[in-house]
Amino acid sequence: MQKLIVGNWKMNGLGAALDEAQAVAAGLGAAAARVGICPPATLVERMSRALAGTLVAVGGQDCRAEASGAYTGDVSAEMLADAGACLVILGHSERRAGFGETDALVAAKTEAALRAGLEPIVCVGETLAEREAGGALAIVTGQVRGSLPAALAGRPFAVAYEPVWAIGTGLTPTLEQIAEMHAAIRAELVATLGEAGARAPILYGGSVKPANAAEILSTAEVGGALVGGASLKASDFLGIIAGA
Ligand code: PEP
Repeated sequence: MQKLIVGNWKMNGLGAALDEAQAVAAGLGAAAARVGICPPATLVERMSRALAGTLVAVGGQDCRAEASGAYTGDVSAEMLADAGACLVILGHSERRAGFGETDALVAAKTEAALRAGLEPIVCVGETLAEREAGGALAIVTGQVRGSLPAALAGRPFAVAYEPVWAIGTGLTPTLEQIAEMHAAIRAELVATLGEAGARAPILYGGSVKPANAAEILSTAEVGGALVGGASLKASDFLGIIAGA
């Protein structure tokens, strides 16, 4: 199956950065992985127009569970879809930690994404303290259980395993640790969603770079990558995609 490689630009990117997205689209080979870029909400519509007709999908980085209403500053899944998005990242650790997002809220946002026809990428991952205490597998499989609604069965979606301690730090788990966690996530997905859980790609995220992408992407049960910092420069992101 084609790998799914998604860039998370976080709160980076003004209009001029659309050139980088266009350079990614221009540099994709025919046999490339499935590729997406999730820019800040302000760029979703412009990037969707700029990349129309290319192989690069555009996504949001979060959405509100409600479709509309008095939620100052928030963006709904319907709004992202209306702006041209087809993907949305949900439950990123920066939102779980910084905005108090619980598994139940992430599940509600995932249902909203499905309602709007977006493909959700649901993030899970343990902190360093949780790993050092020996609780990583239980924490992450618990997040999978709590954050993925039954409504996902039969719909396209992905899970992203992102150890919090590997995000933006240059640290990565060993390939054995990645394989162990992805196997545990797969087992949990199958237990909760059956056949749909057996097919969904499980992405790895956390300090993926051109230099380590190929070995991470060839690890068992790694169905792609969610890439932060290295997705901001087309040459780096293309280097990662080349490892798929
Ligand atoms: C992320 O925040 O989703 C991420 C994977 O970041 P980085 O690649 O910069 O570690």
